[in-house]
Amino acid sequence: MITFVKIMLMKKIVVLTGAGISAESGIKTFRDSDGLWEEYRIEDVATYDAWQRNQELVIEFYNQRRKQLLEVEPNAAHYALAKLEARFDVQIITQNVDDLHERGGSSKILHLHGELKKVRSTVDENLIYTLKGWELKKGDLCEKGSQLRPHIVWFGEDVPMIIPAAELSAQADIFMVVGTSMNVYPAAGLLNYVPANVPKYFIDPNAKDFYNARNLMIIKEKAGIALPELVEKLLAE
Ligand code: NAD
Repeated sequence: MITFVKIMLMKKIVVLTGAGISAESGIKTFRDSDGLWEEYRIEDVATYDAWQRNQELVIEFYNQRRKQLLEVEPNAAHYALAKLEARFDVQIITQNVDDLHERGGSSKILHLHGELKKVRSTVDENLIYTLKGWELKKGDLCEKGSQLRPHIVWFGEDVPMIIPAAELSAQADIFMVVGTSMNVYPAAGLLNYVPANVPKYFIDPNAKDFYNARNLMIIKEKAGIALPELVEKLLAE
Protein backbone atom coordinates (compact mmCIF):
# COMPACT_ATOMS: atom_id res chain seq x y z
CA MET A 1 0.00 0.00 0.00
CA ILE A 2 2.77 2.43 0.99
CA THR A 3 4.72 1.57 -2.19
CA PHE A 4 1.59 2.14 -4.29
CA VAL A 5 1.02 5.60 -2.76
CA LYS A 6 4.70 6.45 -3.26
CA ILE A 7 4.52 5.56 -6.98
CA MET A 8 1.31 7.61 -7.35
CA LEU A 9 3.17 10.68 -6.05
CA MET A 10 6.21 10.18 -8.25
CA LYS A 11 6.56 11.82 -11.64
CA LYS A 12 6.19 9.32 -14.47
CA ILE A 13 9.08 9.00 -16.92
CA VAL A 14 8.33 6.97 -20.03
CA VAL A 15 11.35 5.83 -22.04
CA LEU A 16 11.10 4.46 -25.58
CA THR A 17 14.25 2.50 -26.39
CA GLY A 18 15.56 0.93 -29.58
CA ALA A 19 18.48 -1.17 -30.74
CA GLY A 20 20.93 1.72 -30.16
CA ILE A 21 20.73 1.40 -26.37
CA SER A 22 22.12 -2.14 -26.62
CA ALA A 23 24.80 -1.27 -29.22
CA GLU A 24 27.44 -0.53 -26.57
CA SER A 25 26.75 -3.96 -25.06
CA GLY A 26 27.85 -5.49 -28.36
CA ILE A 27 24.49 -6.22 -30.02
CA LYS A 28 24.41 -4.70 -33.49
CA THR A 29 21.57 -2.48 -34.66
CA PHE A 30 20.52 -3.09 -38.23
CA ARG A 31 20.27 0.47 -39.54
CA ASP A 32 23.94 0.92 -38.74
CA SER A 33 25.00 -1.87 -41.08
CA ASP A 34 23.18 -1.18 -44.32
CA GLY A 35 19.91 -2.84 -43.42
CA LEU A 36 21.58 -5.99 -42.17
CA TRP A 37 20.99 -7.32 -38.67
CA GLU A 38 24.07 -9.23 -37.49
CA GLU A 39 24.93 -9.97 -41.17
CA TYR A 40 21.46 -11.22 -42.13
CA ARG A 41 18.94 -9.55 -44.42
CA ILE A 42 15.78 -8.66 -42.50
CA GLU A 43 13.60 -10.12 -45.27
CA ASP A 44 15.30 -13.50 -44.81
CA VAL A 45 14.88 -13.81 -41.06
CA ALA A 46 12.41 -11.34 -39.57
CA THR A 47 9.21 -11.60 -41.60
CA TYR A 48 6.37 -14.10 -41.67
CA ASP A 49 7.23 -14.83 -45.33
CA ALA A 50 10.73 -15.82 -44.24
CA TRP A 51 9.23 -18.18 -41.66
CA GLN A 52 7.07 -19.81 -44.32
CA ARG A 53 9.98 -20.09 -46.77
CA ASN A 54 12.69 -21.37 -44.46
CA GLN A 55 11.87 -22.18 -40.85
CA GLU A 56 15.33 -23.66 -40.22
CA LEU A 57 17.06 -20.39 -41.15
CA VAL A 58 14.71 -18.28 -39.02
CA ILE A 59 15.07 -20.62 -36.05
CA GLU A 60 18.85 -20.60 -36.45
CA PHE A 61 18.98 -16.79 -36.64
CA TYR A 62 17.08 -16.38 -33.38
CA ASN A 63 19.05 -19.21 -31.74
CA GLN A 64 22.21 -17.26 -32.51
CA ARG A 65 20.71 -14.03 -31.12
CA ARG A 66 19.67 -15.91 -27.97
CA LYS A 67 23.13 -17.45 -27.63
CA GLN A 68 24.68 -14.00 -28.04
CA LEU A 69 22.58 -12.76 -25.11
CA LEU A 70 24.56 -15.07 -22.85
CA GLU A 71 27.76 -13.28 -23.86
CA VAL A 72 26.68 -9.65 -23.42
CA GLU A 73 25.98 -7.48 -20.40
CA PRO A 74 23.86 -4.39 -19.81
CA ASN A 75 25.78 -1.13 -20.28
CA ALA A 76 25.85 2.23 -18.50
CA ALA A 77 22.64 3.34 -20.24
CA HIS A 78 20.60 0.36 -19.00
CA TYR A 79 21.95 0.82 -15.46
CA ALA A 80 21.22 4.56 -15.53
CA LEU A 81 17.54 3.91 -16.29
CA ALA A 82 17.32 1.54 -13.33
CA LYS A 83 18.89 4.19 -11.09
CA LEU A 84 16.20 6.67 -12.12
CA GLU A 85 13.65 4.55 -10.23
CA ALA A 86 14.96 5.99 -6.95
CA ARG A 87 12.94 9.16 -7.59
CA PHE A 88 10.65 8.48 -10.53
CA ASP A 89 8.01 6.03 -11.68
CA VAL A 90 9.93 4.77 -14.71
CA GLN A 91 8.16 2.88 -17.49
CA ILE A 92 10.29 1.49 -20.29
CA ILE A 93 8.79 0.74 -23.67
CA THR A 94 11.39 -1.14 -25.66
CA GLN A 95 11.54 -2.21 -29.27
CA ASN A 96 14.39 -4.49 -28.28
CA VAL A 97 13.98 -8.20 -27.97
CA ASP A 98 16.99 -8.63 -25.70
CA ASP A 99 16.68 -8.76 -21.88
CA LEU A 100 19.26 -6.10 -21.03
CA HIS A 101 16.75 -3.73 -19.39
CA GLU A 102 15.66 -6.56 -17.09
CA ARG A 103 19.25 -7.46 -16.27
CA GLY A 104 20.13 -3.78 -15.82
CA GLY A 105 17.63 -3.64 -12.97
CA SER A 106 14.61 -1.84 -14.47
CA SER A 107 11.31 -3.09 -13.13
CA LYS A 108 8.58 -1.90 -15.54
CA ILE A 109 9.35 -2.99 -19.09
CA LEU A 110 6.94 -3.33 -21.96
CA HIS A 111 8.36 -5.26 -24.92
CA LEU A 112 6.74 -3.97 -28.08
CA HIS A 113 8.37 -6.43 -30.46
CA GLY A 114 8.53 -9.56 -28.35
CA GLU A 115 11.25 -11.26 -26.35
CA LEU A 116 14.12 -13.40 -27.55
CA LYS A 117 13.97 -15.75 -24.59
CA LYS A 118 10.35 -16.68 -25.27
CA VAL A 119 8.74 -18.87 -27.93
CA ARG A 120 5.12 -19.39 -28.77
CA SER A 121 2.66 -21.72 -30.44
CA THR A 122 1.91 -21.29 -34.13
CA VAL A 123 -1.77 -22.21 -33.64
CA ASP A 124 -2.54 -20.31 -30.41
CA GLU A 125 -0.68 -17.04 -29.85
CA ASN A 126 -1.61 -17.11 -26.16
CA LEU A 127 0.56 -20.17 -25.57
CA ILE A 128 3.88 -18.51 -24.74
CA TYR A 129 6.81 -20.32 -23.12
CA THR A 130 10.17 -19.23 -21.74
CA LEU A 131 12.96 -21.32 -23.28
CA LYS A 132 15.25 -22.99 -20.76
CA GLY A 133 18.42 -22.63 -22.83
CA TRP A 134 19.21 -20.74 -26.03
CA GLU A 135 18.11 -23.36 -28.54
CA LEU A 136 14.76 -23.82 -30.25
CA LYS A 137 14.62 -26.81 -32.59
CA LYS A 138 12.54 -27.67 -35.61
CA GLY A 139 10.12 -30.26 -34.17
CA ASP A 140 9.74 -28.54 -30.77
CA LEU A 141 5.97 -28.42 -30.31
CA CYS A 142 3.46 -26.51 -28.20
CA GLU A 143 0.96 -28.43 -26.05
CA LYS A 144 -1.48 -28.39 -28.98
CA GLY A 145 1.08 -30.10 -31.20
CA SER A 146 2.18 -27.22 -33.45
CA GLN A 147 5.73 -26.04 -34.16
CA LEU A 148 6.97 -23.39 -31.74
CA ARG A 149 8.17 -20.09 -33.25
CA PRO A 150 10.19 -17.22 -31.78
CA HIS A 151 8.02 -14.87 -29.68
CA ILE A 152 8.94 -11.95 -31.90
CA VAL A 153 6.82 -9.42 -33.76
CA TRP A 154 8.15 -9.76 -37.28
CA PHE A 155 8.03 -6.96 -39.81
CA GLY A 156 4.54 -6.76 -41.27
CA GLU A 157 2.87 -8.39 -38.23
CA ASP A 158 0.47 -6.68 -35.81
CA VAL A 159 1.97 -5.04 -32.73
CA PRO A 160 -0.55 -5.95 -29.99
CA MET A 161 1.30 -4.02 -27.26
CA ILE A 162 1.08 -0.72 -29.14
CA ILE A 163 -2.23 0.20 -27.47
CA PRO A 164 -0.95 -0.05 -23.87
CA ALA A 165 2.26 1.66 -25.05
CA ALA A 166 0.27 4.59 -26.47
CA GLU A 167 -1.72 4.87 -23.22
CA LEU A 168 1.48 4.94 -21.18
CA SER A 169 3.02 7.55 -23.49
CA ALA A 170 -0.01 9.78 -22.97
CA GLN A 171 0.52 9.62 -19.17
CA ALA A 172 4.17 10.71 -19.24
CA ASP A 173 5.40 13.69 -17.22
CA ILE A 174 8.77 13.31 -18.96
CA PHE A 175 9.36 11.32 -22.15
CA MET A 176 12.67 9.98 -23.49
CA VAL A 177 13.59 8.32 -26.75
CA VAL A 178 16.91 6.46 -26.78
CA GLY A 179 18.77 4.75 -29.62
CA THR A 180 16.15 4.33 -32.28
CA SER A 181 16.14 5.37 -35.92
CA MET A 182 12.40 6.16 -35.56
CA ASN A 183 11.93 4.30 -38.85
CA VAL A 184 9.93 1.36 -37.51
CA TYR A 185 6.21 2.02 -37.14
CA PRO A 186 3.97 2.00 -35.17
CA ALA A 187 6.62 2.42 -32.42
CA ALA A 188 7.94 5.64 -33.96
CA GLY A 189 4.43 7.15 -33.74
CA LEU A 190 4.36 6.93 -29.92
CA LEU A 191 5.87 10.42 -29.67
CA ASN A 192 2.58 11.73 -31.07
CA TYR A 193 0.71 10.52 -27.97
CA VAL A 194 2.88 12.50 -25.57
CA PRO A 195 1.24 15.78 -24.53
CA ALA A 196 2.85 18.85 -26.09
CA ASN A 197 3.82 20.46 -22.77
CA VAL A 198 5.76 17.38 -21.59
CA PRO A 199 9.59 17.69 -21.70
CA LYS A 200 11.05 15.24 -24.23
CA TYR A 201 14.63 14.07 -24.68
CA PHE A 202 15.92 12.21 -27.73
CA ILE A 203 19.34 10.56 -27.35
CA ASP A 204 20.90 9.13 -30.51
CA PRO A 205 24.21 10.04 -32.19
CA ASN A 206 22.39 10.13 -35.54
CA ALA A 207 19.16 11.77 -34.36
CA LYS A 208 17.56 13.70 -37.17
CA ASP A 209 16.37 17.23 -36.54
CA PHE A 210 13.07 16.92 -38.35
CA TYR A 211 10.92 16.01 -35.36
CA ASN A 212 8.76 19.04 -34.73
CA ALA A 213 7.45 17.87 -31.36
CA ARG A 214 7.27 20.69 -28.82
CA ASN A 215 9.61 20.72 -25.83
CA LEU A 216 12.00 18.29 -27.51
CA MET A 217 15.71 18.32 -26.68
CA ILE A 218 17.88 16.35 -29.10
CA ILE A 219 21.14 14.97 -27.68
CA LYS A 220 23.42 13.63 -30.42
CA GLU A 221 25.53 11.36 -28.27
CA LYS A 222 25.89 7.68 -27.42
CA ALA A 223 23.38 6.41 -24.87
CA GLY A 224 26.13 5.10 -22.58
CA ILE A 225 27.46 8.65 -22.22
CA ALA A 226 24.38 10.86 -22.48
CA LEU A 227 21.90 8.83 -20.45
CA PRO A 228 23.91 8.61 -17.20
CA GLU A 229 24.44 12.40 -17.43
CA LEU A 230 20.76 13.09 -18.01
CA VAL A 231 19.76 10.74 -15.18
CA GLU A 232 22.12 12.49 -12.73
CA LYS A 233 20.63 15.84 -13.76
CA LEU A 234 17.04 14.64 -13.26
CA LEU A 235 17.85 13.01 -9.91
CA ALA A 236 19.46 16.24 -8.69
CA GLU A 237 16.57 18.54 -9.67
P1 NAD B 1 17.55 0.69 -35.69
O1 NAD B 1 18.58 -0.36 -35.96
O2 NAD B 1 16.61 1.06 -36.76
O3 NAD B 1 18.27 2.05 -35.25
C1 NAD B 1 19.28 2.03 -34.28
C2 NAD B 1 19.53 3.45 -33.84
O4 NAD B 1 20.46 3.40 -32.79
C3 NAD B 1 20.15 4.36 -34.93
O5 NAD B 1 19.39 5.54 -35.03
C4 NAD B 1 21.55 4.63 -34.40
O6 NAD B 1 21.98 5.95 -34.69
C5 NAD B 1 21.36 4.47 -32.92
N1 NAD B 1 22.56 4.14 -32.18
C6 NAD B 1 23.64 3.40 -32.55
N2 NAD B 1 24.53 3.33 -31.56
C7 NAD B 1 24.00 4.04 -30.52
C8 NAD B 1 24.45 4.32 -29.20
N3 NAD B 1 25.62 3.88 -28.74
N4 NAD B 1 23.64 5.06 -28.40
C9 NAD B 1 22.45 5.53 -28.85
N5 NAD B 1 21.98 5.30 -30.09
C10 NAD B 1 22.75 4.55 -30.91
O7 NAD B 1 16.84 0.24 -34.39
P2 NAD B 1 15.35 0.37 -33.98
O8 NAD B 1 14.87 1.74 -34.33
O9 NAD B 1 15.27 -0.08 -32.58
O10 NAD B 1 14.60 -0.68 -34.90
C11 NAD B 1 15.15 -1.96 -35.06
C12 NAD B 1 14.20 -3.11 -34.81
O11 NAD B 1 14.96 -4.32 -34.95
C13 NAD B 1 13.71 -3.12 -33.41
O12 NAD B 1 12.35 -2.87 -33.46
C14 NAD B 1 13.99 -4.50 -32.83
O13 NAD B 1 12.83 -5.30 -32.81
C15 NAD B 1 14.95 -5.12 -33.78
N6 NAD B 1 16.32 -5.17 -33.21
C16 NAD B 1 16.49 -5.46 -31.89
C17 NAD B 1 17.76 -5.50 -31.35
C18 NAD B 1 17.92 -5.80 -29.87
O14 NAD B 1 17.00 -6.37 -29.27
N7 NAD B 1 19.03 -5.41 -29.24
C19 NAD B 1 18.88 -5.26 -32.15
C20 NAD B 1 18.67 -4.97 -33.52
C21 NAD B 1 17.38 -4.94 -34.03
